[in-house]
Amino acid sequence: MAGAAAGPRDVVVGRDSRVSGPMFHRATLAALQSVGCDVIDVGLAPTPTIQMAVEHHHAAGGLAITASHNPIEWNALKFIGPSGLFLDGSESAQMREVVEGAFPRATWDTLGAVRTDTEAIARHLAAVLALPFVNAPEIRRRRFRVALDCAHGAGGAIIPALLEELGCDVVAINLETDGRFTRSPEPVAANLGELERLVRDSKADIGFATDPDVDRLALVADDGVAIGEDWTLALAARLVLKYRRGPVVANLSTSRIVEDVAAEAGTRVIRAPVGEVNVAVRMREEGAAIGGEGNGGVILAEVHLGRDAPVGVALLLQMLLEDNVPLSRTLAGYPRYAFVKDKLDRPNAPLDAVYDALRRTFADAEVDTQDGLRLSWQDRWVHVRPSGTEPIVRVIAEAPDASAAHELVARSRVPLDALKIN
Ligand code: MG
Repeated sequence: MAGAAAGPRDVVVGRDSRVSGPMFHRATLAALQSVGCDVIDVGLAPTPTIQMAVEHHHAAGGLAITASHNPIEWNALKFIGPSGLFLDGSESAQMREVVEGAFPRATWDTLGAVRTDTEAIARHLAAVLALPFVNAPEIRRRRFRVALDCAHGAGGAIIPALLEELGCDVVAINLETDGRFTRSPEPVAANLGELERLVRDSKADIGFATDPDVDRLALVADDGVAIGEDWTLALAARLVLKYRRGPVVANLSTSRIVEDVAAEAGTRVIRAPVGEVNVAVRMREEGAAIGGEGNGGVILAEVHLGRDAPVGVALLLQMLLEDNVPLSRTLAGYPRYAFVKDKLDRPNAPLDAVYDALRRTFADAEVDTQDGLRLSWQDRWVHVRPSGTEPIVRVIAEAPDASAAHELVARSRVPLDALKIN
Protein backbone atom coordinates (compact mmCIF):
# COMPACT_ATOMS: atom_id res chain seq x y z
CA MET A 1 0.00 0.00 0.00
CA ALA A 2 3.07 2.26 -0.29
CA GLY A 3 2.23 5.69 -1.63
CA ALA A 4 -1.47 5.49 -0.77
CA ALA A 5 -2.95 8.85 0.15
CA ALA A 6 -3.17 9.31 3.90
CA GLY A 7 -5.44 11.67 5.76
CA PRO A 8 -4.84 13.44 9.05
CA ARG A 9 -6.66 10.68 10.98
CA ASP A 10 -4.05 8.06 10.04
CA VAL A 11 -2.00 6.52 12.82
CA VAL A 12 0.82 4.07 12.13
CA VAL A 13 0.98 1.10 14.53
CA GLY A 14 3.70 -1.50 14.92
CA ARG A 15 5.08 -3.72 17.64
CA ASP A 16 8.25 -5.46 18.70
CA SER A 17 8.43 -9.22 19.28
CA ARG A 18 7.25 -9.43 22.91
CA VAL A 19 4.98 -12.32 23.86
CA SER A 20 2.26 -9.84 24.92
CA GLY A 21 2.77 -7.86 21.68
CA PRO A 22 0.00 -9.46 19.56
CA MET A 23 -2.51 -8.92 22.39
CA PHE A 24 -1.64 -5.26 22.91
CA HIS A 25 -1.49 -4.84 19.14
CA ARG A 26 -5.11 -6.00 18.75
CA ALA A 27 -6.20 -3.81 21.67
CA THR A 28 -4.42 -0.79 20.18
CA LEU A 29 -6.00 -1.25 16.74
CA ALA A 30 -9.46 -1.57 18.30
CA ALA A 31 -8.95 1.46 20.56
CA LEU A 32 -7.85 3.65 17.66
CA GLN A 33 -10.76 2.51 15.50
CA SER A 34 -13.16 3.23 18.36
CA VAL A 35 -12.22 6.91 18.31
CA GLY A 36 -12.33 7.16 14.53
CA CYS A 37 -8.62 6.88 13.69
CA ASP A 38 -7.63 5.06 10.52
CA VAL A 39 -4.75 2.69 11.24
CA ILE A 40 -1.80 1.86 9.01
CA ASP A 41 -0.59 -1.41 10.49
CA VAL A 42 3.07 -2.27 9.87
CA GLY A 43 2.92 -5.32 12.15
CA LEU A 44 6.09 -6.65 13.77
CA ALA A 45 8.78 -4.06 13.08
CA PRO A 46 11.70 -2.21 14.69
CA THR A 47 10.85 1.13 16.33
CA PRO A 48 12.94 3.11 13.78
CA THR A 49 11.00 1.37 10.97
CA ILE A 50 7.72 2.50 12.58
CA GLN A 51 9.03 6.07 12.93
CA MET A 52 10.02 6.08 9.24
CA ALA A 53 6.58 4.74 8.27
CA VAL A 54 4.93 7.72 10.03
CA GLU A 55 6.98 10.07 7.86
CA HIS A 56 6.45 8.02 4.72
CA HIS A 57 2.66 8.03 5.07
CA HIS A 58 2.44 11.66 6.31
CA ALA A 59 0.43 10.20 9.17
CA ALA A 60 -0.88 12.13 12.17
CA GLY A 61 1.37 10.04 14.41
CA GLY A 62 2.42 6.56 15.36
CA LEU A 63 2.50 4.05 18.18
CA ALA A 64 5.31 1.58 18.73
CA ILE A 65 4.18 -1.19 21.07
CA THR A 66 7.44 -1.99 22.83
CA ALA A 67 9.17 -1.93 26.18
CA SER A 68 12.47 -1.36 24.38
CA HIS A 69 15.36 -2.99 26.28
CA ASN A 70 13.33 -3.84 29.42
CA PRO A 71 12.77 -7.39 30.76
CA ILE A 72 10.40 -9.94 29.28
CA GLU A 73 7.36 -9.16 31.48
CA TRP A 74 7.12 -5.52 30.38
CA ASN A 75 5.34 -3.88 27.49
CA ALA A 76 4.58 -0.24 26.75
CA LEU A 77 3.91 2.36 24.07
CA LYS A 78 6.31 4.79 22.43
CA PHE A 79 4.43 7.81 21.03
CA ILE A 80 5.52 9.22 17.69
CA GLY A 81 4.54 12.68 16.38
CA PRO A 82 3.73 13.57 12.75
CA SER A 83 7.39 14.31 11.94
CA GLY A 84 8.39 10.76 12.96
CA LEU A 85 10.11 12.00 16.14
CA PHE A 86 9.00 10.89 19.58
CA LEU A 87 6.77 13.35 21.44
CA ASP A 88 8.81 15.83 23.46
CA GLY A 89 8.01 16.88 27.04
CA SER A 90 5.33 19.45 26.23
CA GLU A 91 3.71 17.31 23.51
CA SER A 92 3.54 14.39 25.97
CA ALA A 93 1.89 16.62 28.57
CA GLN A 94 -0.64 17.78 25.95
CA MET A 95 -1.38 14.20 25.01
CA ARG A 96 -1.93 13.21 28.63
CA GLU A 97 -4.40 16.05 28.99
CA VAL A 98 -6.35 14.82 25.96
CA VAL A 99 -6.34 11.20 27.11
CA GLU A 100 -7.39 12.07 30.66
CA GLY A 101 -10.26 14.26 29.43
CA ALA A 102 -13.50 12.97 27.96
CA PHE A 103 -13.28 12.63 24.22
CA PRO A 104 -15.97 11.33 21.93
CA ARG A 105 -16.18 7.75 20.73
CA ALA A 106 -16.86 7.18 17.06
CA THR A 107 -20.31 6.11 15.98
CA TRP A 108 -20.92 3.08 13.77
CA ASP A 109 -20.52 5.17 10.63
CA THR A 110 -17.29 6.94 11.70
CA LEU A 111 -15.29 3.96 13.04
CA GLY A 112 -11.67 3.92 11.86
CA ALA A 113 -10.43 1.50 9.21
CA VAL A 114 -7.30 -0.68 9.31
CA ARG A 115 -4.95 -1.03 6.36
CA THR A 116 -1.80 -3.13 6.27
CA ASP A 117 1.60 -1.92 5.10
CA THR A 118 3.92 -4.86 4.45
CA GLU A 119 6.68 -2.75 2.84
CA ALA A 120 7.90 -0.73 5.84
CA ILE A 121 10.94 -2.92 6.59
CA ALA A 122 11.88 -3.11 2.89
CA ARG A 123 11.81 0.71 2.66
CA HIS A 124 13.95 0.99 5.79
CA LEU A 125 16.53 -1.44 4.34
CA ALA A 126 16.59 0.43 1.03
CA ALA A 127 17.21 3.75 2.84
CA VAL A 128 20.15 2.28 4.76
CA LEU A 129 21.69 0.71 1.65
CA ALA A 130 21.33 4.03 -0.22
CA LEU A 131 23.47 5.96 2.29
CA PRO A 132 26.04 7.92 0.28
CA PHE A 133 29.06 6.75 2.25
CA VAL A 134 28.10 3.09 2.45
CA ASN A 135 29.71 1.31 -0.49
CA ALA A 136 27.55 -1.82 -0.57
CA PRO A 137 29.29 -3.48 -3.57
CA GLU A 138 32.71 -3.14 -1.88
CA ILE A 139 31.40 -4.40 1.45
CA ARG A 140 29.90 -7.38 -0.39
CA ARG A 141 33.23 -8.17 -2.01
CA ARG A 142 34.96 -8.16 1.37
CA ARG A 143 32.64 -10.95 2.66
CA PHE A 144 32.86 -10.05 6.36
CA ARG A 145 32.15 -12.77 8.85
CA VAL A 146 29.59 -11.34 11.26
CA ALA A 147 28.24 -12.80 14.52
CA LEU A 148 24.75 -11.62 15.42
CA ASP A 149 22.53 -11.72 18.53
CA CYS A 150 19.06 -10.19 18.16
CA ALA A 151 17.87 -11.34 21.63
CA HIS A 152 14.63 -12.78 20.16
CA GLY A 153 13.62 -9.18 19.42
CA ALA A 154 12.39 -7.46 16.25
CA GLY A 155 15.99 -7.27 14.99
CA GLY A 156 15.52 -10.75 13.51
CA ALA A 157 13.09 -9.17 11.04
CA ILE A 158 15.66 -6.77 9.56
CA ILE A 159 19.32 -7.27 10.54
CA PRO A 160 19.84 -10.70 8.86
CA ALA A 161 18.35 -9.30 5.63
CA LEU A 162 20.66 -6.28 5.81
CA LEU A 163 23.72 -8.47 6.39
CA GLU A 164 22.70 -10.69 3.49
CA GLU A 165 22.39 -7.62 1.24
CA LEU A 166 25.92 -6.69 2.34
CA GLY A 167 27.28 -10.13 1.44
CA CYS A 168 28.24 -11.09 4.99
CA ASP A 169 28.87 -14.61 6.19
CA VAL A 170 26.53 -14.61 9.21
CA VAL A 171 26.61 -16.79 12.32
CA ALA A 172 23.63 -15.92 14.48
CA ILE A 173 21.84 -16.65 17.75
CA ASN A 174 18.45 -15.58 19.13
CA LEU A 175 17.03 -14.63 15.73
CA GLU A 176 13.51 -15.97 16.31
CA THR A 177 11.16 -12.99 16.65
CA ASP A 178 9.11 -14.64 19.41
CA GLY A 179 9.99 -12.39 22.36
CA ARG A 180 11.07 -15.36 24.47
CA PHE A 181 14.26 -13.71 25.70
CA THR A 182 16.79 -16.25 26.89
CA ARG A 183 18.88 -13.56 28.55
CA SER A 184 18.38 -10.03 29.83
CA PRO A 185 17.61 -8.22 26.54
CA GLU A 186 19.49 -4.99 27.21
CA PRO A 187 22.63 -5.10 25.01
CA VAL A 188 25.06 -4.01 27.73
CA ALA A 189 28.40 -5.83 27.74
CA ALA A 190 27.51 -7.94 30.79
CA ASN A 191 24.65 -9.59 28.83
CA LEU A 192 26.68 -10.49 25.74
CA GLY A 193 28.74 -13.46 26.91
CA GLU A 194 27.14 -15.81 24.40
CA LEU A 195 27.89 -13.43 21.53
CA GLU A 196 31.48 -13.00 22.75
CA ARG A 197 31.94 -16.79 22.56
CA LEU A 198 30.32 -16.89 19.14
CA VAL A 199 32.72 -14.24 17.82
CA ARG A 200 35.71 -16.16 19.16
CA ASP A 201 34.53 -19.60 18.02
CA SER A 202 33.56 -18.45 14.53
CA LYS A 203 36.56 -16.09 14.16
CA ALA A 204 34.15 -13.33 13.21
CA ASP A 205 35.32 -9.86 12.17
CA ILE A 206 32.69 -8.28 14.43
CA GLY A 207 29.68 -9.16 16.60
CA PHE A 208 26.47 -7.15 16.58
CA ALA A 209 23.76 -7.19 19.29
CA THR A 210 20.46 -5.32 19.16
CA ASP A 211 17.83 -4.61 21.80
CA PRO A 212 14.23 -5.87 21.27
CA ASP A 213 13.02 -2.79 19.35
CA VAL A 214 16.27 -2.36 17.40
CA ASP A 215 17.19 1.22 18.23
CA ARG A 216 20.30 0.20 20.18
CA LEU A 217 23.35 -1.56 18.74
CA ALA A 218 26.25 -2.99 20.73
CA LEU A 219 29.52 -4.38 19.38
CA VAL A 220 31.83 -7.28 20.12
CA ALA A 221 35.32 -6.81 18.69
CA ASP A 222 37.17 -9.50 16.72
CA ASP A 223 39.02 -10.58 19.90
CA GLY A 224 35.68 -11.59 21.43
CA VAL A 225 35.34 -8.66 23.83
CA ALA A 226 32.06 -6.74 24.18
CA ILE A 227 33.40 -3.19 24.06
CA GLY A 228 30.49 -1.30 25.62
CA GLU A 229 27.71 0.54 23.86
CA ASP A 230 29.37 3.95 23.92
CA TRP A 231 31.72 2.81 21.18
CA THR A 232 28.90 2.34 18.67
CA LEU A 233 28.24 6.05 18.23
CA ALA A 234 31.94 6.92 18.51
CA LEU A 235 32.93 4.53 15.70
CA ALA A 236 29.96 5.44 13.51
CA ALA A 237 30.94 9.11 13.93
CA ARG A 238 34.55 8.24 13.12
CA LEU A 239 33.39 7.04 9.68
CA VAL A 240 30.81 9.71 8.93
CA LEU A 241 33.14 12.58 9.87
CA LYS A 242 35.50 11.48 7.09
CA TYR A 243 32.78 12.45 4.64
CA ARG A 244 30.91 15.22 6.29
CA ARG A 245 31.57 18.38 8.26
CA GLY A 246 29.45 19.51 11.17
CA PRO A 247 29.21 18.82 14.87
CA VAL A 248 28.24 15.59 16.59
CA VAL A 249 25.25 15.78 18.93
CA ALA A 250 25.19 13.40 21.91
CA ASN A 251 23.37 13.40 25.22
CA LEU A 252 24.97 14.61 28.44
CA SER A 253 25.62 11.05 29.71
CA THR A 254 27.45 9.81 26.60
CA SER A 255 31.12 8.82 26.90
CA ARG A 256 33.73 11.42 26.11
CA ILE A 257 35.31 8.98 23.66
CA VAL A 258 32.90 10.65 21.21
CA GLU A 259 34.69 13.94 21.94
CA ASP A 260 38.07 12.33 21.20
CA VAL A 261 36.75 11.05 17.85
CA ALA A 262 35.21 14.44 17.00
CA ALA A 263 38.42 16.30 17.93
CA GLU A 264 40.42 13.94 15.72
CA ALA A 265 38.15 14.97 12.81
CA GLY A 266 38.44 18.67 13.68
CA THR A 267 34.92 19.09 14.96
CA ARG A 268 33.14 19.18 18.32
CA VAL A 269 30.40 17.50 20.33
CA ILE A 270 27.25 19.39 21.29
CA ARG A 271 25.52 17.95 24.36
CA ALA A 272 21.74 17.62 24.60
CA PRO A 273 19.52 16.56 27.52
CA VAL A 274 18.99 12.80 27.90
CA GLY A 275 16.17 11.43 25.71
CA GLU A 276 16.24 10.57 22.02
CA VAL A 277 13.93 13.42 20.97
CA ASN A 278 16.21 15.99 22.63
CA VAL A 279 19.17 14.74 20.61
CA ALA A 280 17.11 14.61 17.41
CA VAL A 281 15.81 18.17 17.78
CA ARG A 282 19.28 19.52 18.55
CA MET A 283 20.70 17.69 15.51
CA ARG A 284 18.17 19.46 13.31
CA GLU A 285 18.94 22.85 14.88
CA GLU A 286 22.72 22.46 14.61
CA GLY A 287 22.96 20.77 11.22
CA ALA A 288 24.77 17.86 12.86
CA ALA A 289 26.86 15.41 10.82
CA ILE A 290 25.68 12.57 13.05
CA GLY A 291 24.25 12.17 16.53
CA GLY A 292 23.05 9.68 19.05
CA GLU A 293 23.34 8.35 22.55
CA GLY A 294 25.92 6.39 24.47
CA ASN A 295 23.48 3.48 24.81
CA GLY A 296 24.29 2.27 21.28
CA GLY A 297 21.91 4.68 19.55
CA VAL A 298 23.13 6.06 16.22
CA ILE A 299 21.13 8.78 14.44
CA LEU A 300 21.72 9.82 10.85
CA ALA A 301 19.35 12.51 9.58
CA GLU A 302 19.05 11.29 5.99
CA VAL A 303 17.61 7.95 7.06
CA HIS A 304 15.57 9.30 9.93
CA LEU A 305 16.01 11.49 13.03
CA GLY A 306 15.85 8.56 15.44
CA ARG A 307 18.18 5.91 16.85
CA ASP A 308 18.59 3.17 14.30
CA ALA A 309 20.57 -0.06 14.75
CA PRO A 310 20.55 -1.01 11.01
CA VAL A 311 22.19 2.36 10.25
CA GLY A 312 24.86 1.52 12.83
CA VAL A 313 25.49 -1.92 11.29
CA ALA A 314 26.02 -0.45 7.81
CA LEU A 315 28.32 2.33 9.06
CA LEU A 316 30.41 -0.08 11.14
CA LEU A 317 30.92 -2.48 8.22
CA GLN A 318 31.93 0.44 5.99
CA MET A 319 34.40 1.54 8.68
CA LEU A 320 35.92 -1.96 8.87
CA LEU A 321 36.20 -2.00 5.07
CA GLU A 322 38.03 1.33 4.98
CA ASP A 323 40.28 0.60 7.97
CA ASN A 324 41.23 -2.80 6.61
CA VAL A 325 42.58 -3.79 10.04
CA PRO A 326 40.87 -5.76 12.82
CA LEU A 327 38.53 -3.70 15.00
CA SER A 328 40.58 -4.52 18.12
CA ARG A 329 43.59 -2.82 16.52
CA THR A 330 41.61 0.33 15.72
CA LEU A 331 40.35 0.45 19.32
CA ALA A 332 43.90 0.13 20.68
CA GLY A 333 44.64 3.58 19.24
CA TYR A 334 42.13 5.31 21.52
CA PRO A 335 42.12 6.11 25.24
CA ARG A 336 39.94 4.01 27.52
CA TYR A 337 37.68 5.49 30.16
CA ALA A 338 35.96 3.98 33.17
CA PHE A 339 32.25 4.56 33.77
CA VAL A 340 30.64 4.44 37.20
CA LYS A 341 26.85 4.63 37.48
CA ASP A 342 25.03 5.04 40.76
CA LYS A 343 21.43 5.78 41.68
CA LEU A 344 19.63 6.76 44.87
CA ASP A 345 16.08 7.51 45.91
CA ARG A 346 14.94 10.94 44.86
CA PRO A 347 14.73 13.26 47.90
CA ASN A 348 11.47 15.11 48.52
CA ALA A 349 13.25 18.46 48.47
CA PRO A 350 14.20 20.21 45.19
CA LEU A 351 17.69 19.45 43.98
CA ASP A 352 18.75 23.09 43.54
CA ALA A 353 20.61 23.12 46.87
CA VAL A 354 22.45 19.96 45.79
CA TYR A 355 23.46 21.54 42.50
CA ASP A 356 24.68 24.70 44.28
CA ALA A 357 26.73 22.64 46.74
CA LEU A 358 28.28 20.63 43.92
CA ARG A 359 29.20 23.75 41.98
CA ARG A 360 31.01 25.01 45.10
CA THR A 361 32.75 21.65 45.66
CA PHE A 362 33.89 21.48 42.05
CA ALA A 363 34.53 25.17 41.44
CA ASP A 364 37.04 24.49 38.63
CA ALA A 365 34.60 22.45 36.49
CA GLU A 366 32.79 23.46 33.35
CA VAL A 367 29.06 23.57 34.17
CA ASP A 368 26.07 22.41 32.10
CA THR A 369 22.59 22.84 33.58
CA GLN A 370 20.43 21.65 30.65
CA ASP A 371 19.43 18.42 32.38
CA GLY A 372 20.26 18.22 36.08
CA LEU A 373 23.89 19.22 36.59
CA ARG A 374 26.86 18.07 34.56
CA LEU A 375 30.35 19.05 35.63
CA SER A 376 33.21 18.39 33.27
CA TRP A 377 36.97 18.69 33.02
CA GLN A 378 39.47 17.90 30.27
CA ASP A 379 39.35 14.10 30.76
CA ARG A 380 36.44 13.43 33.15
CA TRP A 381 32.88 14.42 34.02
CA VAL A 382 30.07 13.73 36.44
CA HIS A 383 26.33 14.06 35.72
CA VAL A 384 23.66 14.29 38.45
CA ARG A 385 20.09 14.16 37.17
CA PRO A 386 16.64 13.05 38.28
CA SER A 387 15.45 10.10 36.18
CA GLY A 388 12.59 10.86 33.80
CA THR A 389 10.97 7.45 34.34
CA GLU A 390 11.75 6.38 37.93
CA PRO A 391 11.72 8.17 41.35
CA ILE A 392 15.50 8.13 41.54
CA VAL A 393 18.47 10.42 41.01
CA ARG A 394 21.21 9.11 38.76
CA VAL A 395 24.85 9.92 39.35
CA ILE A 396 27.12 8.98 36.46
CA ALA A 397 30.83 9.66 36.17
CA GLU A 398 33.51 8.90 33.61
CA ALA A 399 37.25 9.25 34.18
CA PRO A 400 40.50 7.76 32.88
CA ASP A 401 40.40 5.07 35.58
CA ALA A 402 37.79 3.45 37.81
CA SER A 403 39.06 4.86 41.11
CA ALA A 404 38.85 8.44 39.79
CA ALA A 405 35.31 7.80 38.50
CA HIS A 406 34.29 6.27 41.86
CA GLU A 407 35.70 9.30 43.66
CA LEU A 408 33.67 11.69 41.50
CA VAL A 409 30.49 9.74 42.27
CA ALA A 410 31.26 9.56 45.99
CA ARG A 411 31.93 13.31 46.27
CA SER A 412 28.79 14.07 44.25
CA ARG A 413 26.67 11.95 46.56
CA VAL A 414 27.63 13.94 49.67
CA PRO A 415 25.07 16.78 49.29
CA LEU A 416 22.43 14.30 48.07
CA ASP A 417 22.87 12.06 51.10
CA ALA A 418 22.83 15.11 53.40
CA LEU A 419 19.49 16.18 51.92
CA LYS A 420 18.06 12.77 52.64
CA ILE A 421 19.17 12.75 56.28
CA ASN A 422 17.79 16.23 56.98
MG1 MG B 1 15.12 0.21 22.44
